[in-house]
Amino acid sequence: MKIASIHPPSACNGVDQFSWAASPQGKFTVKSAYELLDHSRVQESATYWKLAWSWKGPQSIKIFIWLVLHNRLKTRAELAAQHLNIDPSCERCGAGLENTIHVLRDCPYSRAVWLRLIRGNNQQHFFESSLADWMSENLQSQSTSLGNNLWRVIFGVAIWRLWFWRNWFIFTKDYWESNTIAMDIKVRAAEIQRCNSFLSTTDSNRIEKWIRWIAPTWPWVKLNTDGAMKPSGHAGAGGLIRDYRGVWQIGYSANLGACSVTSAELWGLFHGLSIAWLYGYCRVMVEVDSK
Ligand SMILES: [Zn+2]
Repeated sequence: MKIASIHPPSACNGVDQFSWAASPQGKFTVKSAYELLDHSRVQESATYWKLAWSWKGPQSIKIFIWLVLHNRLKTRAELAAQHLNIDPSCERCGAGLENTIHVLRDCPYSRAVWLRLIRGNNQQHFFESSLADWMSENLQSQSTSLGNNLWRVIFGVAIWRLWFWRNWFIFTKDYWESNTIAMDIKVRAAEIQRCNSFLSTTDSNRIEKWIRWIAPTWPWVKLNTDGAMKPSGHAGAGGLIRDYRGVWQIGYSANLGACSVTSAELWGLFHGLSIAWLYGYCRVMVEVDSK
């Protein structure tokens, strides 16, 4: 404990009193004492917070990243450390200690998946760093991989799915091949990347193009559908059916909740075709997204 003296002792300044150096007002608080004792951990926690929340993608993956950074995954090593009567060894490969880095990287089952995702020249370093460095380096990586996808997006999706597949194995004893898991990761990462680039598209770099609606010939009707997503992630779809004279016949709209733009477009199309069928239109021309 420290006593902070602000001025040299002088009778003119009144009587001496105790002051707590760890808070700006000199008053003792439990929070300031905790921060004083645990300064490095508080700083670390702020870095981890930034790492997890600056990752661009679904909230569930951000929360998972936060859990990993704080070593909160309920691995067998973690459960054994909490004095639960559990064998800390890995149920998949038999290694002595199933901790977070083992589950997510070093277990041969996870390693086989990573070898399908990372480039050859990065492999050695990738498998040698500590959990904190490994997470921090990969989540901040600016490099791209597997086509045009950002590595940090693939990495976030990969650790999240590797934990899922580890749990899947433990609870079902059903083992999935590394190439199936790697493909699942690639598809999910590409979808997130597509949503991210859609959201970052500003009005200034959009190309405006005029498209004229052309009426169908009799006895056809034309169904125009569209789907859209707000930055909040909420998606909706709508459409309308017009006849050969361009006269409005039926319109519809649907609130879809959280889904991708592609899914919104497809739901819009599905609803439109269902309505056309319901109203007895058998000759339907379809235009999706005004094109
Ligand atoms: Zn293992």
